[in-house]
Amino acid sequence: MTQQTSSALFNRAKQVIPGGVNSPVRAFKSVDRDPLFISRAAGSRIYDADSNAYIDYVGSWGPMILGHCHPKVVEAIQQAAAAGASFGAPTEKEIILAEMVRDAYPNMEKVRMVSSGTEATMSAIRLARGYTGRDKILKFDGCYHGHADSLLVKAGSGAATFGVPTSPGVPADFAKHTLTATYNDLADVEQLAAANQNQIACIILEAVAGNMGCVPPAPGFLEGLRSLCDREGIILIIDEVMTGFRVAYGGAQERFGIRGDLSCLGKIIGGGLPVGAFGGKKEIMDHLSPDGGVYQAGTLSGNPLAMSAGIATLQLLQQDGFYDLIEEKSAYLEAGLRAAAEKTGVQTCFQRVGGMFCTYFQPGPVFSFADAAKSDISRFSAFFSAMLEAGINLAPSQFEAGFMSAAHSREDLDTTIAAAEKAFSTL
Ligand code: PMP
Repeated sequence: MTQQTSSALFNRAKQVIPGGVNSPVRAFKSVDRDPLFISRAAGSRIYDADSNAYIDYVGSWGPMILGHCHPKVVEAIQQAAAAGASFGAPTEKEIILAEMVRDAYPNMEKVRMVSSGTEATMSAIRLARGYTGRDKILKFDGCYHGHADSLLVKAGSGAATFGVPTSPGVPADFAKHTLTATYNDLADVEQLAAANQNQIACIILEAVAGNMGCVPPAPGFLEGLRSLCDREGIILIIDEVMTGFRVAYGGAQERFGIRGDLSCLGKIIGGGLPVGAFGGKKEIMDHLSPDGGVYQAGTLSGNPLAMSAGIATLQLLQQDGFYDLIEEKSAYLEAGLRAAAEKTGVQTCFQRVGGMFCTYFQPGPVFSFADAAKSDISRFSAFFSAMLEAGINLAPSQFEAGFMSAAHSREDLDTTIAAAEKAFSTL
């Protein structure tokens, strides 16, 4: 297929936008080809500037769980736009979405809306530090929580893809407050906690790590963190920007029966519009400005278009059997991809939690970033390119998850499996 228009647009973009993109992984750099420029999307399909159609498993990196352009979401956005794009003043819609979030996450007694996942985690950490009076934070190698300074230390996603897990521009004086542990290694966390007693404000983690592929929590890991935090007076922040309303309506916390003191959301709760949220126990959240001293604000926070898209999306997710459907489709794809790999003799490790998944090019299993990094990246890149040429859009990095939507049909899945078998056979 020709992707000439995309390439021409990429060349033009590079003149005026750093690297031609507004978020690094979009540039397809790690898979060594020009990125697609997208003109539109509908259901399970996205269309590039050359009018090629692709079955899409990126779903805007997670938000599009209903598929693209669900008519009810489009209608909600249109109606909201007609009533005013932004007021910088409170609206009822913010209360409605906050109530919906609290109903799904009972531990999010109070919720503050922001405009991105980065803002949600950054603000939750400031709050944890303000509340505990401690400076240090603990995160996991390969987990990504957005690009705030103290979180760009051994980060996943694009930071892992481009081999700069700790970014230049993050002062060593900031980075020194960030402790990093190995994902799924409770003993490592216990050791760090013992060496930094009464100094750690919070532990932040992805309860299913989706920024180093797809890594489920090992049995006992989340429970162990919960009891360590209780014992040491550490705030447990569960970053559900990706997993929230994705791996269950109540996210990873519902699915694994664990509760954070603070939780972060984004992606799905904005139905594709820029949004984020953080929340938790009243006792902690009441330390936020204007009631408390920890400052946090946003010109577009609680934006009426984003709130409307989020409300319409969550209403649709409440339909009976929605998550069973996502599970069924994802399990079908998993079985097909496993069979295709086996048939062609390609060494892969497929990991999945609900509608998020990853095919690692290695035997696995993958429990940590060190494990994920053992994958054969050149094989991944060849697979990615072959799939793209066959009309299947996957995340352009081994260290990212794929996402299922309700709009993916059985035919889409069969087409994907057939394309994968063909792609595997060329490796
Ligand atoms: N946390 C997690 C778990 C994420 O996956 C992401 C983004 N992929 C973020 C935070 C940052 O969100 P945003 O890109 O909206 O700032």
